[in-house]
Amino acid sequence: MAIQRTFVMIKPDGVRRNLVGEIISRFEKRGLKIIGLKMVKMDRNIAERLYEEHKGKSFFDELINYVTSGPVVCMVIEGDEAVNVVRKMIGNTDPKEAPPGTIRGDYALSKAENVIHASDSEEKAKREMSIFFKEEELVTTVVQAHM
Ligand code: ADP
Ligand code: MG
Repeated sequence: MAIQRTFVMIKPDGVRRNLVGEIISRFEKRGLKIIGLKMVKMDRNIAERLYEEHKGKSFFDELINYVTSGPVVCMVIEGDEAVNVVRKMIGNTDPKEAPPGTIRGDYALSKAENVIHASDSEEKAKREMSIFFKEEELVTTVVQAHM
């Protein structure tokens, strides 16, 4: 077992299309644990931090406009090899290449507006979750005596 944490974000189109429950349900049914969850509206600064690796690319402005166009749902998901497993569950960046059964393969067609984000490495997961969550906001071990 290699328990990992990954960062997942349901993008504004996913929220607008009422796919939040459906998407969260897939992760739960797979056996992954949601240990952090919040809905936020990103400002441009935060969005540019999240996507800093794409700064300078042709689609960067379009991407920032898109992800700041409405609220998003941010999650930290924990489980065995969660980084890889979640990336497989969301499917290819271009939904036309994403197999049916994946989230993008079932709910998206546009490479720009593709419903969901997930970290692609453990290192990036740590960086991305720290933009949205303080360590103490993540549900880890609950000490029985305090309940
Ligand atoms: P992923 O989200 O699968 O990790 P990338 O990190 O390559 O994909 O890109 C980040 C996001 O930028 C994509 O999910 C998509 O919303 C947007 N994007 C990527 N490539 C393009 C493109 N060629 N045109 C428009 N938007 C794009
Ligand atoms: Mg990426």
